[in-house]
Amino acid sequence: MSKIYLIDVTNRDGVQTAKLGLSKLEKTMVNIYLDEMGIFQSEFGFPTTRHETNYLQANLELAEIGVIKNLHLEGWIRAIVADVETAFKLVPRLKHLNLSISTSEQMIQGKFQGRKTRDDIINEMTRAVDAAWAHGAETVGVNAEDASRTDLGYLLKFGVAAKEHGASRLRYCDTLGYDNPFTIYETAKALAEEVNIPIELHCHGDLGMAVATSLAGAKGAIDGGQDAYINVTVNGIGERAGNADLVATILAVTKSKGFAEKYKLGGSVDLTKAWKIAKYASYSFDVPIPINQPGVGSNAFAHESGIHADGVLKDPENYELYGFEELGRGEPELVDTGRQISAGEYSGVSGFSHVMGEMEIKFASREEAQEILELVRYANVQAHKPLVEEELLFIAKYPEVARKLLTLVP
Ligand SMILES: [Zn+2]
Repeated sequence: MSKIYLIDVTNRDGVQTAKLGLSKLEKTMVNIYLDEMGIFQSEFGFPTTRHETNYLQANLELAEIGVIKNLHLEGWIRAIVADVETAFKLVPRLKHLNLSISTSEQMIQGKFQGRKTRDDIINEMTRAVDAAWAHGAETVGVNAEDASRTDLGYLLKFGVAAKEHGASRLRYCDTLGYDNPFTIYETAKALAEEVNIPIELHCHGDLGMAVATSLAGAKGAIDGGQDAYINVTVNGIGERAGNADLVATILAVTKSKGFAEKYKLGGSVDLTKAWKIAKYASYSFDVPIPINQPGVGSNAFAHESGIHADGVLKDPENYELYGFEELGRGEPELVDTGRQISAGEYSGVSGFSHVMGEMEIKFASREEAQEILELVRYANVQAHKPLVEEELLFIAKYPEVARKLLTLVP
């Protein structure tokens, strides 16, 4: 039976969102948390972008030494041979790639302005796929940008060409959030049946349906006989109105009426990590979680009216579809109300040793403390906010990886 896998694109779609960004250390923590959660793949960045090179290499190292265990780390580039060449030149150990090219008439005319025909698009894509294999890629996904505004006949031809060149998956991009659950179901089913490779669903929320269209597309792919790979972001952060939210998508697949009887998540996704990753992404993007966010909003388990409060106290299932414990919520959060000493870009070694001592980290010498502090200062320069405990622990544990992450040389 075909399954549903999750590909998180926070470190690509999320960070290319207007007015938002993450430091390289923050992107790394997102990958570590996704791995802990059992997510299949992270689209971890842009291998042709020079300021990403050290970060991408450092994360591949974390995978090699087993800090990141099962998560596929996949780079996103344009589906042209030149990008494939640059990607492997800058990041030679890259294993997983997604190659993207526009397929709709709107974008072929509107972006390429008559410089490319539909056949050119297919030729460029297949040559890029061949180049990626030649460089030793282990998986190569092909993305049809604006697929939802592409006519089905051409999209099938594009998909079949990708498959003939060995593409691992076809990404159906509802780039503008134009689909509804009914239309995407039909298209995804047709693609699965006729192209005959696993289908990725990349949906946006411009019409408020990103999770719904993702689910319907996944159902279409599976009914068509193929695995489905849903693209998600943490807290739904992505271009414009955002992408399908990671936590809401897991809840929709596993808790919605009858769905999980036939359509199941592949691998072992640990929903109890939801609260941690949502809180971290909110802090690092500096974007609050809406109070009514499914599962992780502050009102997601709040009851006030007499009838609801009484009902939920008698039996939570009266007014709750799932329990807060399932999302890793419920632990009290300790906030220091007295003296606070934090580690920032101008901290000194004694304050820093105090902060780390509170986490029971002891340094062998003042020199070692000084060296870690130096890295923490740089991390603060990039993040512009106090580091969280797990970031400090990461730097203390993997100082050489952290040094690489923090090294940006134009
Ligand atoms: Zn997108």
